[in-house]
Formats: sequence, C-alpha cells, structure tokens
Amino acid sequence: MTKSIDFSKYSSIKIGPVVDVFLIDEMQPLPKNHFLIGGANNLLVSDNPPPLSMLSKKFDYLHLEDDRLFVGGATKSGRIFSYCKKHNIKGFEYLSKLPGTLGGLIKMNAGMKDDEIFNNLIKIKTVDGYILKEDINHGYRFTDIETIVYEAVFKIERGFDKEKLAIFAKMRKNQPSLPSAGSVFKNPDGDYAGRLIEAVGLKGYKKGRASFSEVHANFLVNEGGASFEDALFLIELAKKRVFEKYSILLEKEVIIVT
Ligand SMILES: Cc1cc2nc3c(=O)[nH]c(=O)nc-3n(C[C@H](O)[C@H](O)[C@H](O)COP(=O)(O)OP(=O)(O)OC[C@H]3O[C@@H](n4cnc5c(N)ncnc54)[C@H](O)[C@@H]3O)c2cc1C
Repeated sequence: MTKSIDFSKYSSIKIGPVVDVFLIDEMQPLPKNHFLIGGANNLLVSDNPPPLSMLSKKFDYLHLEDDRLFVGGATKSGRIFSYCKKHNIKGFEYLSKLPGTLGGLIKMNAGMKDDEIFNNLIKIKTVDGYILKEDINHGYRFTDIETIVYEAVFKIERGFDKEKLAIFAKMRKNQPSLPSAGSVFKNPDGDYAGRLIEAVGLKGYKKGRASFSEVHANFLVNEGGASFEDALFLIELAKKRVFEKYSILLEKEVIIVT
C-alpha cells in the first residue's frame, strides 16, 4: 500500500514534491534502494527523490510494563511527551519541543543539551531482533543504525520535571518560527555552527525564498515557496565560506534526500 505525501506540506521545511510513499505495515527489511522517512523534520527532499517508505500507523503505540516503556517507531514525539507527563515519567521533557517520530529520534540520537533519546534507551527492535544500546555506536546527533527501528524500549524513572519544560521553552525562544528542518549543521567541536555562519556574513543571507535566519543563523528557513535548489545552494555556500575562512568542515545535520 502507498500513501501520497506532499512534502511541501508534510516536511517541516515545507519543501519537496508530491510522492507516493510505500507504507510498511509489518516488520521487514527496507525495500532495496528505498529511503525511509519518519516525520520529515530533519529532511530536505529533492524534486526527484529515490523511492520512499514509511512506517504505517500500526507502529504508532506506547505501553508500560513494570519499569519499561515500549514505543512504536511511528509514534510522534508529542505523543511520547504527553504519555510521560501523564504517567509521571522523567527524562523525556525535551520532546515537548522536539518534532519527530520515535524512529527518526533514535536514528538521529535527537535531543536538547544533555537530554537525548539514548539516555534512557535499553534496546531497539529491528527485523533481525532486538539490538542493545551498548551494541549501537552513538554520539552527539549520531548513530550508525542502518536498519528500520520498529520499536524502542526505555528504562523509566518517575518524576516528570516541570522545571525542565521552562528551560526548553526558553531555549526555543531564540529560534525562528518560520518553517525549517532544525539545525542545518552540527556544532563542530568547541564551536557553534550558527556563530561560524554569522562570522562569514551569511546570517540573514537569502537565495530566492530560502535564507539563513536572522534569528539564528544555523536555521535555514523557508520564507514561503523556497525551492530545493535555493536551500541546497545556501548549505553549500556556508560550508565553502566557513572552510575557506576557518578551515572547519561543517557537517550537515539535515539529511538531503536525492
Ligand atoms: C524546528 C525544529 C527544531 C529542531 N530541534 C532539534 C533539536 O533541538 N535537537 C535535535 O536533535 N533535533 C532537532 N530537530 C530535528 C528533528 O526534530 C530530529 O532530527 C528528529 O529526530 C527527526 O525525526 P523524524 O521522524 O522527523 O525523522 P526524519 O526527518 O523523517 O528522518 C531523519 C532520519 O531518521 C531516519 N528514520 C526515520 N524513521 C526511522 C525509523 N523508523 N528507523 C530508522 N531510521 C529512521 C531517516 O531515514 C533519516 O535518516 C529539529 C527540527 C525542527 C523542524
């Protein structure tokens, strides 16, 4: 079964074509040459992408067993957050401000500051069985997962922390409200991608309807009707200028799907 997805509406940056996406309804390997999408909050999809797949609603669930939380790969961060709040679970507060599905969160090791999705993780469920956290290479906004995450199992502790909500809300205040795919680049060791982009004169710089945000330079925003080419042009420009001036090779956080 397929589902028609308009990436100019579905993706957080509101760029991309209308594509029939294959719906994965039972555990299986990713079809050959397919790219797997989650909520498309970290993607820049080209006008001519490879075949795409996504998990069906069947993988949108949460349940608790003793001190273990089981979450399906298609479950949205907002739903995980609300569940944790309701059940007085701590460690997932940042999900109030971080868009994504469980699979995308795990693959990217998404998080805010020191709170990241791997912190409470025990194991992930894949077509080849469970894989323990200890057996997955992971770090800052990185994992080497090359398979579909169908489910994740977390160890939970009680004590939902309301104070953290205020901290995360404050962090979001200096981020743009225009559509984006989150941070374009990872922060290089000991520095900030936003500072570097600003230092090479690209804060607020526009190409067509895409620009590096005036609010925070590491956010590439869509001012309405931006094209894939414009967004890609800006990403390459920032990489080039930062390398020329500082010999720092910025690494993309956003994933370009071509
Ligand atoms: C406004 C905004 C703010 C953001 N702030 C942050 C932030 O503070 N911190 C942060 O870490 N991120 C942030 N992001 C980025 C984004 O929220 C995360 O990367 C999130 O994890 C993406 O999840 P997704 O489901 O949308 O994945 P997608 O963007 O659809 O995909 C991302 C990657 O995950 C893979 N993937 C998706 N589903 C699965 C699955 N089931 N199994 C295996 N791989 C899968 C995809 O193949 C792709 O490689 C922000 C994004 C936006 C738009």
